[in-house]
Amino acid sequence: MTTSPSIAVIGAGPAGLMLAERLSAAGLRVDIYDRMPSVARKFLMAGRGGLNLTHSEPLAAFIGRYGVQAAALKPAIEAFPPKALRDWADGLSADTFVGTSGRVFPKALKASPLLRQWLTRLETPNSGMGVRFHLRHTWTGWDGSALTFEHQGQTVRVAADVTVLALGGASWPRLGSDGGWTRLLSDKGVPVAPLRPANMGFRVGWSALLRDKIAGEPLKNVALTFDGRTRKGELMLTRDGVEGGLIYTFAAALRDAIERKGAAVASLDLKPEWSEAQIQNRLSRGAKNDSLSNRLRKTLNLTPAQIAVLREGDQPVTPALIKALPLTLTGAQGLARAISSAGGIRFDALTADYELKALPGVYAIGEMLDWEAPTGGYLLQACFSQAVWTAEAILRI
Ligand SMILES: Cc1cc2nc3c(=O)[nH]c(=O)nc-3n(C[C@H](O)[C@H](O)[C@H](O)COP(=O)(O)OP(=O)(O)OC[C@H]3O[C@@H](n4cnc5c(N)ncnc54)[C@H](O)[C@@H]3O)c2cc1C
Repeated sequence: MTTSPSIAVIGAGPAGLMLAERLSAAGLRVDIYDRMPSVARKFLMAGRGGLNLTHSEPLAAFIGRYGVQAAALKPAIEAFPPKALRDWADGLSADTFVGTSGRVFPKALKASPLLRQWLTRLETPNSGMGVRFHLRHTWTGWDGSALTFEHQGQTVRVAADVTVLALGGASWPRLGSDGGWTRLLSDKGVPVAPLRPANMGFRVGWSALLRDKIAGEPLKNVALTFDGRTRKGELMLTRDGVEGGLIYTFAAALRDAIERKGAAVASLDLKPEWSEAQIQNRLSRGAKNDSLSNRLRKTLNLTPAQIAVLREGDQPVTPALIKALPLTLTGAQGLARAISSAGGIRFDALTADYELKALPGVYAIGEMLDWEAPTGGYLLQACFSQAVWTAEAILRI
């Protein structure tokens, strides 16, 4: 390769930006392209509910969160682990803290202050970087060896020594990542697993009456059991079903079960801290002439939404039902509102350095690869780690 190879990074999300930073800091000429008028829109959206950058749990447990792809992701995450990501964020004046759940957030909670600082550093030549941004450039494939982009109705051809694709998955397509790249790569012989929603809500057949009562109400401090696994947390009730952190923990297993059987039944415990006997004891202390709803509210502190969900079915309200309310999930919400997507470029299409075997000189990183993880900071951490890992590999060429 020439002494100063030119690098084209396509996709200015967290993965593409981190890779651009590493390579430009090492003195390489980096041009980054994105179809949107501004960068990292999904990263900014992620910051709306509190930007969960990574997680503080021990590294072995952390890596285990990637399930069947844990072994594939291990080298990159070990090379740039959660501690390194926190140090990096601290270096951008976005000091981090560990929340009660072990999740790691920047103190400002939002993504925008961190992103502002980061872009200033990336664009400033005297920071040693000077990455060149090309926005409103939609990648459309190749013309011979040149990359092609659609820009303001024109086709732009770009020659680059090394190309890095960081095009994201397909969730929240209006933020820029729509998975349109799958066809471009499949046509070149790159195996791509279909993109499917991950960390998404599920449909429940609530009655018309219940929908209006419960939409937007949280179910706090509940426990959910599915497939022999129980987790505590919070659910959000929607008109169509349920969403929120607790259900996302089970999303992959529920999605797969629904695909196989048409529905999945999880079990909801509305009082995980109490046994059936304790619940019975409390209920028996209620005033005998109180309505059932009033007794549930006064003796068990159940919210109106919890009581409505409990009374939705025909079953008598017993301590056993309060501890194990069947929740029948009939479908997964689509990609438009999922936090992330599963599927993407298969790992057997990549070398250990994330170079596409079918397209030498072209690398791929981030959510566009075939891995998935629950929420908790695992998504961003994997994107950042893969970017650093691949940058190191490119610097060794
Ligand atoms: C609501 C929400 C909340 C989230 N919260 C968290 C969280 O708290 N913690 C966490 O870890 N993760 C969170 N995530 C997930 C996280 O944001 C993503 O996993 C991460 O942004 C993926 O990074 P990426 O760089 O791989 O892809 P993306 O961020 O999707 O970036 C890809 C870029 O490629 C561009 N692009 C796509 N196609 C083309 C094309 N043909 N031509 C040119 N450009 C193209 C897109 O415009 C985009 O800018 C959240 C996601 C959502 C939607």
